[in-house]
This record gives sequence, structure tokens and C-alpha cells, in this order.
Amino acid sequence: MADPRETPAMQQYYRFKKRHPGCVLFFRIGDFYEMFDDDAVLVSKAIGLTLTQRTAGVPMCGVPHHQLETYLKKLIDKSFRVAVCEQIEPAESAKGLVARAVTRVLTPGTLVDGSLLEDATPLKLAAILFTGSGEDSPAEIAVVDASTGQFTLASASGVNHGQSIIDELMRRSVRELLYAAPADNSVPPRVKRCLDALGISGTPRAAWQFRTQEAREALVEHFKVKSLAGFGVRDDDAAIPAAGAIVRYLAETQTAAAGDAEAQVGVANGIIPKSTLAHLRPPTREHPGDWMTIDAVSLRALEVERVIRAAPGAMDAGLEGSLLGVFLTGPAGNGSGGSGGGVCKTAMGKRLLREWLCRPSRSLKVIESRHAAVAALKEDRRLAGELRDLLADVPDAARIAGRIALGRATPRDLVAIARGLARAPSIAALLDGIASLKPLHARLASPANELRPVATHILDACVEEPPPHLREGGLIKDGIDKELDEARRLQTDAGHWLVEYQERLLKEHSLPGLKVGYNKIFGYYIELTAAQARSAPAAFTRKQTLKNAERYITPELHEFERKVSTAESRALSREREIFEELSASIASRLTEVATIADALGELDVLLGFAEHAARAGWVRPEMTDANVLTIHDGRHPVLERTLGRDFVPNDVEVGSRDEETERQRDGVERAKMSSSDTSSLRHSVSPSLSLITGPNMAGKSTFIRQVALITLLAHAGSFVPAARATIGLTDRIFTRIGADDALHAGQSTFMVEMTETANILHHASPRSLVILDEIGRGTSTLDGLSLAWAITEHLAAVGCRTLFATHYHELTDLADRGETDPHDPLAGRIKNLHVAVREWPLDAHAEEGAASETQIIFLHRILPGKTDQSYGIHVARLAGLPQGVIGRAREVLASLAVHHGPATGAVVEPVPGAAASGDSEGSKKKPRVPTTRVEQPGGQMGLFTEFVQHPAVDALRELKIENLSPLQAFDELRKLKDAAASKP
Ligand code: ADP
Ligand code: MG
Repeated sequence: MADPRETPAMQQYYRFKKRHPGCVLFFRIGDFYEMFDDDAVLVSKAIGLTLTQRTAGVPMCGVPHHQLETYLKKLIDKSFRVAVCEQIEPAESAKGLVARAVTRVLTPGTLVDGSLLEDATPLKLAAILFTGSGEDSPAEIAVVDASTGQFTLASASGVNHGQSIIDELMRRSVRELLYAAPADNSVPPRVKRCLDALGISGTPRAAWQFRTQEAREALVEHFKVKSLAGFGVRDDDAAIPAAGAIVRYLAETQTAAAGDAEAQVGVANGIIPKSTLAHLRPPTREHPGDWMTIDAVSLRALEVERVIRAAPGAMDAGLEGSLLGVFLTGPAGNGSGGSGGGVCKTAMGKRLLREWLCRPSRSLKVIESRHAAVAALKEDRRLAGELRDLLADVPDAARIAGRIALGRATPRDLVAIARGLARAPSIAALLDGIASLKPLHARLASPANELRPVATHILDACVEEPPPHLREGGLIKDGIDKELDEARRLQTDAGHWLVEYQERLLKEHSLPGLKVGYNKIFGYYIELTAAQARSAPAAFTRKQTLKNAERYITPELHEFERKVSTAESRALSREREIFEELSASIASRLTEVATIADALGELDVLLGFAEHAARAGWVRPEMTDANVLTIHDGRHPVLERTLGRDFVPNDVEVGSRDEETERQRDGVERAKMSSSDTSSLRHSVSPSLSLITGPNMAGKSTFIRQVALITLLAHAGSFVPAARATIGLTDRIFTRIGADDALHAGQSTFMVEMTETANILHHASPRSLVILDEIGRGTSTLDGLSLAWAITEHLAAVGCRTLFATHYHELTDLADRGETDPHDPLAGRIKNLHVAVREWPLDAHAEEGAASETQIIFLHRILPGKTDQSYGIHVARLAGLPQGVIGRAREVLASLAVHHGPATGAVVEPVPGAAASGDSEGSKKKPRVPTTRVEQPGGQMGLFTEFVQHPAVDALRELKIENLSPLQAFDELRKLKDAAASKP
């Protein structure tokens, strides 16, 4: 028997299979897409298709052609790449083997079809080129949204073992990464690191595509320019190799037919649509200084895009409760939750909103123009209402434009985009005359007016409710096109003709049971009952035999059938032609369409901001260039939605708006000042770091997150939940917030905590906002406290605005820095805040011994000053710990309590080191407990107190080193050692 893999069709199959390595090949045979061999086995298992055999020994599975998109989606969701191979000539006209061609390649980062995409979620493709050789080497990145054609070039520093690159790719929703394949075809470790961290697909590409010369050629050829300078991209821009590689990849996967002579036949035959990359916009270069950086850890901790503990499941899982969810879901509790009820109306607006929140602006000009627009829209509710109504059914013009270029638009796409474009001029007109909306108006008005006739023409030609695809026609109205009308008339007339024909036959022959009919498989027929079949006239040719009847055809009926079916296909192909003409009228104006889509998306977000600000009472923040952050009656943007009036607003003030102080802070003035002046300086320095102490569950974490979220919102262009806010431009927001163990499987919590903190300490600038929640919890108390102490000092010295919520109330002593030493560089830089609680006796008649039995009420109110208790035992009691355990804990606490006298306040630098060494020596040694201290039970060490009053320390403090000879110094050292050995 011949090898089943040697048939011409299978040979053709393997040819395509070889040309698209790494892809599952969907091979069109008649009404099915078939897969063979390994593909068939793999796919049938992955998405549950029935595995059959084509011929013995060749596994096969297939999907019906009209369900292609459904199955593609399933495969793409499982990270498959798929090449779709079509028949490019009508099977009936083929001589021998039907010609086929791969017409598109679907990859995880290049999806464009509406059925494969989520409206509110951007999906991007990136190409990366590392520009150094080390672990931390920077990278150049080109990013494309294949669905809208947006194209950007960016650089990432690579610091933190490449984490900054991973963050950059994550913030941009990159789902597939192209890289230059090394000679041995391995995945380079730095690329692998990105792929693993993000869980995205990597696609190796030939290394030559990343060579500058070749890459530039791809770009200038695609954009038909001599130089990229016109796009604001220098000809020696370091990202050009990545950009060129990405353009080649898009051309190869998205316009597979374009470079393929065979496929051109399909285009010529009108069987496959023409696809181009006309929607790909010229690249724009981004500069790191344009954006506020929020690293991946902080985005997650602040729950910007989704909540940390999201229920697994739907794509939307975790949106509710996130910052993004504030704008994209309906208000909680009124039943309109879910992604439908948000304040953003368009798909473009939803995607842009996510971009603005994940990458807020750092340009005062940009931010203020957004705020001004929001203010105008919040002010003029009628205008906002009209605009929102107009936007409500503006479709995803950005993505539809992409599909039109790629030849993948549906009839519904065409009508939807025309409808959207037809609305644009009225939207533009409404924006006219309002100062802060002028820039938007300027961008929108002229392209909108230019495209109005195009849109009207389409709407005039098409029915109002178009079919989902063109397979059966029905898009173009009657009376638009003569040829189409004629072809259609033939079809409708057919009905009459058949009736007449049947009557004629009945008259001509006396066969009373005669019927003329039609069925899909056998076409037209004349039917006689079995009894009458014997007297069938000679002109009747038998076609089919049924149980009780016979079916016939006549030459006349045959001729009729031919005419009808050509009329039908003529109508269909005429409709397709008109559809393509109409699509082309948009395809030739893609630049204008993109401008309109961008402007409408932006308007949508601004309207959303205004709408939410009006509903929730948010205010316009004052933006400044100074290092300041002042918020009055600030609220948590998410929690206030659930708590409403029960949410307790809070103030914050860190940093200084006064430039004079700023300069002094830089140390320029400080050096010139006499010591008598420094006390006044101490008061003029505004603290940049606030320590927040208070009991568990008091609201510390909520407070510091809300400050970060308000800062973020302001930079994104939104109003903020506060009564008043002044916010200085911020280059980065860093957060270190209690690690969620599940998220960091495999790493110890403490390790994660320290890695994140290291990142902050290395990269926080005086312009940054740092939010720390409970540093040092994951290790022993002494270690943790020492680290927290040193970290606080470091951040206070950097001068970045910092909020540090801590359960180490010992840290609050840091606020006294400078009291004894006015030259202390940290003088006045640190202040204390605490969360107020109200306490009262649980039982008024309790006996003396039980006096500490109090109940606490959390007021969630942040006040100046420190707490000296953590109330952990109260919380434990609330949580239902047994009464006996609670009682015992109180006893132990009372005996452990470390006394905070004024002496401790004076202790600064030496202490953390001493404490740490005390710990490393091992705490089994009998500790030296200062006599003035509260008795330490069970041989416990006093935390920060034990070395403080030792005579050796005092002597050390008084020692004047500059007067000592080396010999004397040695002598002093010996004395100190002796003293240290003795008990104080
Ligand atoms: P902490 O970090 O001090 O342990 P959290 O910030 O986690 O406390 O707050 C505990 C709970 O208290 C929150 O879940 C919230 O329900 C409530 N809460 C916090 N801040 C406020 C506030 N300002 N107004 C009302 N309730 C609040
Ligand atoms: Mg907390």
C-alpha cells in the first residue's frame, strides 16, 4: 500500500508545515480545517477535539470552517501559534490539487480579531535587544500593538538584574517577545528571565534582522521614507534594530499572503482579502523622564490593575476592588457592579485609562492640561452628559481600523466604524469654545470633518443591522448598485418562476401529485409519487429515489438552476466588491482615523475622570515642582466606595514646598550657618519622612496606600479623593507592602522583603515617594528593628517623601534627632504620626489588678505624635484568643515592657550596630541589664537599652581621639576593653 503521507495533498500540507515551524497548521479541506500527525494529537488533547485518522496511520482532527475563530481563541489562550492555510481557488475550478496558501499566522502577541481580544485589555508585541553584556545591561525595546498599529521605542535600564526591563514589558502589557536567536538556537538567559517572570511567549528571530543596517532598511521601506528623522526618531536610535525586526515579523505573520505569489492568486480570485500593514503608525520614541515609574511590585501591592487576592476565573477577575475598577466597574452595592457599569464608555478609553494609571505622566504641562479638561467637564454637567451620550456607541475605531488594513474587518466592523466616524464632528463641535478642551478640539475637528462624507457614504450603502460575515451577503442595501440589484432580482424572481413552472407541468401532464421543489444538497427537482412515477414523461431524468417518491430533473429546470446559482454567486461577489471598496475608502484615511480614535479615547478617559470626580466628590489637586505632598481629608479611592460616610478622612504633610528650605536641605546653606542658627533651621526643615505607629487594624496600611494612590491618580490626570491636595511632581512611587506569601512561592518572605527594600534604597531619589509597610517583620525582633532603624535613617537622608507604617514604636525616637545635636544631618527630617484609638475600661467595676482590661475603639484617625503601645493583645482578644492566654500575655507584657526614658531619646547612631552585634553573639549569654531598667523576666534582653548606660560607652563618648598619640590610643583601648568586660 502506498505511504499515506505521499499523497499530493499531504505533500502540500508538509510543505506549509515546514515553512511555519512552531505553528499548528490549520489546513483547509472543503468545509473543514484539518490538522494531521503531531499537531492533531497535540491539539485534540489541548482543546478536546475528536482524534480520527485520515488514512490508516495518519492521526487527524478538524474544526468546521465557520467555527474557526472559536477554536483559534481556545488555542491562542493556551499559548499555541497557529498558521491558517486556505484554499485560494474555487475547488470546482481546480485542475487536480486545489491551490492553497497560508494567509495569516496567529501568535499570542499579534491578535487583531475582535473575537480574540478583550476590549479593555491592551495586548502587545515587543522586540528586545540587550545593549551590553552584563546581568544588569540595559535593553532597547520596540513595542507594537498589532491591533491598533501603535508603535513605540523605549529604553530600559536593566538595573536590579534586569527587573526594570521586566517591569517595563509588564506595564506595557507585552504578551510576546521577539529576540535575536543565538547561533545555537538556545534562549539567552536574559531573555529567558523576562519570559519566565512574565509568563509570556518568546519568539526567536534570525539575528540578522536585528542588525542596524538591515533593520533600518525594513523601516524606511515600510514607511516609504528616506530617514526616520521626520518621526522624531534619530537615524542612529539604539532601538532601531528592535524596531526593524518587529516590522519584518509583522509583515511575515500578518500579511502572509503579500509576499507569496501563490497567495496573490487567492487575492486576485477574491477568495482571500488583501492585507497590508497600513495601520502601523510611525514609531514614537519615549524617554524615561516622561513617565512616573511604578515598578511591578508596587503596581501589584497598590492593586492598581487588579486586587491581589483575586478569585481565579474570568478575565475580569480582580478588577473589582482595584484602582482601575473604580472607573471600570459600577459603584459597589447597587447591583451594577461588573465591568459594564464603569464611567469609561469606549474600548479605546478603557485601554488608555489603564495606560495612564500604570504609567502616569511626569510632565507638569501634560498633567495640568488633563486636570483643566477634567475641571471643565466636571463643571459643565450638561456638556459632559451630551458628550457621554455621543461616545456611548462609538466603537473600537482604533482596532477596527487595524482590521480594515489587515483585510480582516467584518461587515459589522465597517458599519460600526462609520457610525463612530459620523459622530465625531458633533463631538468636536461640542468641544469648541471651551478653553481647556481646545487642544482636543484642535486634534479632532479637521480629521472628523474630512471623514464625515466617507462615513455617510458607508452608512447610506449598508443595512442598519449588518450580518456577522459576508458568506451569505446581506450587507448592502437594495438600490445602491445596479448589478447587485439585478442579480438579487433573479433570485427573488426564481420563486415566482418555480410556481409558474409547477402549474405549467401540472397542466401539461396529468400528474396531480407533481411538485417542484428545492433542497440544499440535490438542488431543484420535480417530485412524483411512486405510483405516478411509472407515467413520468420522457423528458424527466431520474435524479433521486426516495421511499415513496421519485425525483427528476428536466433540461429546462437544469438551465434555471444554473442561472439562479450564478445569480447568487454574482450577487455575493458583487457585495464583496462593494464591501472592499467601502473598506478601502477608510483604509486610505487611516492616519486621520487613528487621530480621531486617539482623541475620542482621551476624551472618554477625561469624561470618566470628571464623572467620577462629580459622583464621589473628588477635587483637583494642585501640582507643583517642589518636593511636597500635602493632603487634607484624603480618602482611599477604593475603600470609600464600600464604606461611604464611614470612611474617616485623613491629612498628610511630608516634604516642603518652600524653596528656601529646599536649598538649606541640600546642605549648601547649612554649612555656612553658625550653630546658633541651626535651631531655627531645625524648625524650617519640613520632615520628609513620617513614621506611622498604632495598633493593628487601626488603619495604618490603608492610610499609606491612600497617599500613594492619590499621588498616582493626580499624575495620571485625575482628580483625587480629598478636600484639598498639593502634590509635587514625583519621579517614582516605591512600595514595600506586606508580602503575600502565596505570590512569592519558593522565596522566604524576609528575603522578598529585603530584595524589595534594596531596590528602594538603591533607586529612590529626592523626587520619589516611598511607602513602607512593616519592614523587618520577617526576622527576629532585634534584627528587624535594627534594619528598620537603618533604613529609616537612609531614606530620611535621601529626603524622598516617605511614609513608614511600623509596629516598632522604638523607631519613633528618631523624630527627636537633632534635639541634642543640632548638627545632626537628620535633624527635623523625621516626624511621628499615630492612629488614634479610644480606650475605656471594659468593666467599670473591675478590681485593681484587672485595671488594664480595657476595650479599644479604632478611630482610624491619623494624628501627630507617637504611640507607645501596639495593642496587639487587644486585637488578639477581639480575634477570640482564650481568656487565659490573653491574661498571661498581659502579665508577660508588663514584665517585658521596655522603659523609654529621656536617655534613650539621645541614643542614635551607635545603637543599631550594638543591638545587632548583641544579637549575633547569641542571646544565650547572660545579658547586662542596666540597673535603672525595669526588671527583665526570663533572662530577656532589653531591646535598645542594655548597652546604653554602660560606663565604657560613656568613656568612649568622651574620648578626644585627636589629642591621643598612637601609644595613648592603645592604652585607652585596653582600658575600654577592661571596662567593657566588667558589669556596669
Ligand atoms: P493596620 O495596617 O493599621 O493594621 P489597616 O489599614 O489594614 O490597619 O486597616 C484595617 C481595617 O480598618 C481596614 O480593613 C478598614 O476596614 C478599616 N479602616 C482603615 N482605615 C480606615 C478609615 N480611614 N476609615 C474607616 N475605616 C478604615
Ligand atoms: Mg497594616
